[in-house]
Amino acid sequence: MSIRNNLQAIRQHLPGHVKLIAVSKTMPNALIMEAYEAGQRAFGENKAQELSAKQPQLPGDCEWHFIGHLQTNKVKYIAPFVHMIHSVDSLKLIQEINKQAAKHNRVIPCLLQFHIAEEETKFGLDREEADQLLNFLSTNPLPNVMISGVMGMATYTDDMQQVRKEFVHLRNIFDELKRGYFADMEWFKEISMGMTNDYRVAVEEGSTMVRIGSAIFGERNYQ
Ligand SMILES: *Cc1c(COP(=O)(O)O)cnc(C)c1O
Repeated sequence: MSIRNNLQAIRQHLPGHVKLIAVSKTMPNALIMEAYEAGQRAFGENKAQELSAKQPQLPGDCEWHFIGHLQTNKVKYIAPFVHMIHSVDSLKLIQEINKQAAKHNRVIPCLLQFHIAEEETKFGLDREEADQLLNFLSTNPLPNVMISGVMGMATYTDDMQQVRKEFVHLRNIFDELKRGYFADMEWFKEISMGMTNDYRVAVEEGSTMVRIGSAIFGERNYQ
């Protein structure tokens, strides 16, 4: 299977409104270019330094999505060009994104990452932390970030019922936040959920962005 064929096979399973983000972490530029030449433009990376090294070597119309845990001291590396940050999990982080975005006269779209999995190892906010963050921002707005939706990772398991339950949970969080904080804000619309093993379930439960790596580029040697 070639990267082109893999992309084609995945796109066949995706409704038109669902954005495919090709997760290119650990992959060399030559393979990213194969995806680019097959028409793919949105790519996902999870390390700030890896992304800031790759970005200048690849075509300028690539859309770079940051999907990994982001330390505040690394925001500066990606702020000049990043298209969306999917992994906002603290007030301190979003304040730093706002500060770095302002330096470049940009507004950076961000998603709030929620902890929906059973595994403790995964990052993300819970509902209460999100309320604290959003209440704070409602009186202290950040002009250089735009909160565009939510992101989550399901438990790594073959139990698709478990996975479905977690995606439904994220969907419910999205609906509650929409009602409570973003009712008339049309830009709050994204639910980033679904990876190689679970994207079909994620799409059934309302995903608007799937982040797929191994089904496109093949197995990685490390995470
Ligand atoms: C690596 C990664 C993905 C893609 O995982 P695959 O199983 O290879 O599709 C998606 N989302 C995040 C946050 C990741 O770190």
